[in-house]
Amino acid sequence: MKDTYLSLVNGPLKQVAKTLGLPQPVELNRFGSTPASYEKQPVLVLGTGPGAQGLADQLLENGLEVRRNAQTGEKLRAIIAVLDYAQSPADLSPVVLEVGAALRSLAACGRVITISTAPDAQNQTPEQAATTQGITGFTRSVAHEMRAGATANGILLDGVDLTAPSVAAALWFLLSGKSAYVSGQFLTVSSDAGQRLSLDEFMSTGDAGPLSGRTAVVTGAARGIGAAIAENLARDGAYVIGVDMPQAGQALAQVMNRIGGKSLQLDITSADAPDKITEALGGPVDILVHNAGITRDKMLANMDAAKWDSVIAVNIAAQTMINARLAEKGLFAEGAQVVSLASTSGIAGNRGQTNYATSKAGVIGLTAASAEDFAARGGAINAIAPGFIETDMTAKMPTLTRQVARRLSSLQQGGQPIDVAEAIGFLASSGARGINGQTLRVCGQNMVGA
Ligand code: NAD
Repeated sequence: MKDTYLSLVNGPLKQVAKTLGLPQPVELNRFGSTPASYEKQPVLVLGTGPGAQGLADQLLENGLEVRRNAQTGEKLRAIIAVLDYAQSPADLSPVVLEVGAALRSLAACGRVITISTAPDAQNQTPEQAATTQGITGFTRSVAHEMRAGATANGILLDGVDLTAPSVAAALWFLLSGKSAYVSGQFLTVSSDAGQRLSLDEFMSTGDAGPLSGRTAVVTGAARGIGAAIAENLARDGAYVIGVDMPQAGQALAQVMNRIGGKSLQLDITSADAPDKITEALGGPVDILVHNAGITRDKMLANMDAAKWDSVIAVNIAAQTMINARLAEKGLFAEGAQVVSLASTSGIAGNRGQTNYATSKAGVIGLTAASAEDFAARGGAINAIAPGFIETDMTAKMPTLTRQVARRLSSLQQGGQPIDVAEAIGFLASSGARGINGQTLRVCGQNMVGA
C-alpha cells in the first residue's frame, strides 16, 4: 500500500507542507537503501564512566569512525550515551546535556542510543531505581523530539555488562537501517547467551549471513508481513519452510520458489498442525516465527462466538499448542529461537478489537512465561508488536482512519512489512540470545499505548 502523502510532501508539495506546518515524514534509510555517506559518518560516544571508553574501543574494532567529543561542523551518524555509571538522577546532567548539544549535528535518519542499567525495583535502592527508570523517560522523550527520520532507543543491561554478545547485536541492529521504524523502545539484555557477531557478520547476507545454516518455519508466509519475514530470513542465510492456508497455496508457492524454500499448506489451528510441521522439517527447528494472524473486528456488544473464537484460535491458541508439542517431542534445536507477532493493540487495547487485543496480549504473556524454558535450551523467545504497517490488513481500514493512524507516530508514517521482518531477523540471530521473553514494538513510536 502506497503512502501518497509521503511522496507528495517529499516532492511537489514540500514547500506547501512546510508553510502550513503539516507533518513532513521523510523516506527512511533502510537496509540496502542507506547511503554510503551515512555509513561513513562518525558515532559520538558520550559517558563519564569506564564503560564509555570500552564501548568506543568496541566500535573502533568494528571499523566505525568514533568520536569522544563533538567536532564543529561534522555530521554524526549516531550519538551513544553510556549511562550505566549513574547512581542518582543528579549524575545524569553532564551527559544528557552533551547529548542535547550534539543533536543539531545528527544526520537525517541518525540515531540516539542510551545504554543503562535496567530498572529493578526489587534490587535497587529507591535512588538507583529513580535513576534507571528516569533514563527510560529521557530516551522516550528524545525519541519524540527527533526529526527527519532520526530515532532514539535504549539498551538496558539486566545483570550483564557492556561486553555481553547481545549488547553488540542490539547495537548493530539499532545503528543500522534494519531498525528504521523502531523508535522510543528498549532492548533488555539479561544474559551472556549468544554468539558475539561483528558488525560485518551481522550485516552480511546469503551464505555469510547471520542465519546461515539454520532452518526457519514461518506461519502465514503467503503474503504481507509473513512473506517479508520469509524473504528476509532467506536473505540472511536461513532455509525457510513457509506455512499458510491451502487457499493461499499458490501465493505461498510463489514466495517459496523465489527464496528456494519449501511450502507447507496447513491450517495452523488443526489438531495435527504440529505433526505436519514436524514432518515437513524432518529434524529439529532452529527458528520458528508465529506470524499467521487474523482480525474479526466488532464492538463487544455485537461480538458473536464465531468472531471471538476464530481470532483466539489462530492468533494465540495455535502457537501455544505448536510450541508445547514441539517442546514435548524435543523438536526445538539447541539454541532454538522463537519470535511471535503481537500488536500494539495487545498493549494499549483497541476499540472494536477485544478479541484481537486479548489474543495479542496473550502472545506477550506466553512469550514472557516461556522464556525460562527456551533459555534452558540455550535459546530464546521474543515477540514483536507492530504498530501501523502497510499491508492488506491495514488497507481495509476506512481512508480517514488510515491517514490518521499513519501520522500518529513520531516518524509520522506507517511502517513497511520489511521493518517487522528486520526486527525478526535480528531477534532470530544467534547474537540476540541474551534478549529473552521481551516484546519489541516496531511502531515508529506510535502514540497508541506509548
Ligand atoms: P495478512 O492478513 O496480510 O496475512 C496473514 C497471513 O496469515 C495470510 O497469508 C493468511 O492466509 C495466514 N493465515 C491466517 N490464518 C491462518 C491459519 N489458520 N493457518 C495458516 N495461515 C493462516 O496479515 P499481516 O498484516 O501480514 O499480519 C501478519 C501478522 O502481523 C498478524 O499476526 C497480525 O496480527 C500482525 N500485525 C499486523 C499489523 C499490521 O499493521 N498489518 C499490526 C500489528 C500486528
